[in-house]
Amino acid sequence: MIAIANEPSFKESVDLMVDRAMAVISLDDGTASAIKSCNSLLQVKFPVKIRGKIEVFTGWRATHSTHRLPSKGGIRYAPYADQDEVEALAALMTYKCALVDVPFGGSKGALLINPSHYERDELEMITRRFAHELIRKGFLSPSTNVPAPDMGTGQREMAWIADTYKHLHPEDINYIACVTGKPLHHGGIHGRVEATGRGVQYAVREFFRHPEDIKSANMEGSLHGKTCVIQGLGNVGYHASKFLSEDDGVIITAVIERDGALINNEGINIESLNQHIIEHGSIKNYPGATLEENGVAVLEKECDMLIPAALESQITLENADRINAKLIVEAANGPITYGADEILNKKGTIIIPDAYANAGGVTVSYFEWIRNISHIRMGRMQKRHDETHGSQIAAMLEELTGNTISENLKKSVAHGADELELVRSGLDDTMRTAYQQIRETLMSNENINDLRTASYVTSITKIARSYLDIGVY
Ligand code: GLU
Repeated sequence: MIAIANEPSFKESVDLMVDRAMAVISLDDGTASAIKSCNSLLQVKFPVKIRGKIEVFTGWRATHSTHRLPSKGGIRYAPYADQDEVEALAALMTYKCALVDVPFGGSKGALLINPSHYERDELEMITRRFAHELIRKGFLSPSTNVPAPDMGTGQREMAWIADTYKHLHPEDINYIACVTGKPLHHGGIHGRVEATGRGVQYAVREFFRHPEDIKSANMEGSLHGKTCVIQGLGNVGYHASKFLSEDDGVIITAVIERDGALINNEGINIESLNQHIIEHGSIKNYPGATLEENGVAVLEKECDMLIPAALESQITLENADRINAKLIVEAANGPITYGADEILNKKGTIIIPDAYANAGGVTVSYFEWIRNISHIRMGRMQKRHDETHGSQIAAMLEELTGNTISENLKKSVAHGADELELVRSGLDDTMRTAYQQIRETLMSNENINDLRTASYVTSITKIARSYLDIGVY
């Protein structure tokens, strides 16, 4: 966890934001505390022999809610993880899933480790051992608790986890659904790797479909030509900034990374910068921009849109006042502390909150889980049928009108969607629908003045309903 002087912890910060929303809807204390409390928390310490010596690793898995099952959320590998952070992130997963109508509870895991200090085979041993602990203690299975990638983990770790589960439970026909974010040839789904970044893009696009919202952020016009500062070029930040710049004409004027920031007001080419980072392991000496050693200070650079896509607690009581963005899109989880959030709200900065902005990852995880438990690739049954049907419609139109339809048009009418197209369509629809629900909440209650409170009210109302409908057992 990143501890900040005079500020609540990450978990307290999330709870304060939730309290603010609960107060608006006058939720009764019992339901409020049932929703807010973390259902169960596992801490494990396990030894692994590394280079002839025993090392003891510490890991956590928090299950914040089980009103829907399985509980869902990533596992991060980080040298600064702790229980408070894992609980905060698990809580965020509960609100996130409810917001985008993904029928899962919220969970999160972490392993205290610096992955760059270990070889591939060592990481495999550690991951399998961690997975073993989670499985044995009831914190990992396709029906109850399903991890996914997060910071420091990816497809490779998910494949090791799935394989570990399979060996322990060969009788479980749904074993492959015990984790999402897997490689394609191990039960993964097209579009999962870039899903969170793609979701950020869809969230921003949806915001820019509402002229009043654009105006509320003191902007006008379309997304094209808007300036953007991005913090973090990991999986989420890389994809979000790549898609926004390449598809929507957003100008990336600065990229903030661990080793400084790069600035170019004409725009930074994300793909070429990414290649530079892969080759040199650093943003330094990148020819297309100027280096600023004090990266964090660049969060204060004037821009239309600031996208923190790295760690939590980046915008704090200390720098909130100096933030010069009109719109902040929280691609990371918890990048703005509670106190900073209050300052930014007063300043009139519009914030698209994390629980919504980065929900693309878990949304596509949901599609992957469905694919896994149905044991069939999305679109496999319909694709050819849709193509035949489309061709017949085109032929019928030609016959009825006596005109010929161009080959291009015929092709698009007679096109059956493949898995990637279906995933994108499902994700786009999810992000649009959720934003519209948040907006409705915002407009229907005069005590709600910001998108974060509106998001929490939207998701808490859904969760409370499920507690009230079923009762407490
Ligand atoms: N780690 C991602 C998140 O924070 C994805 C979680 C998932 O797919 O379960 O939303």
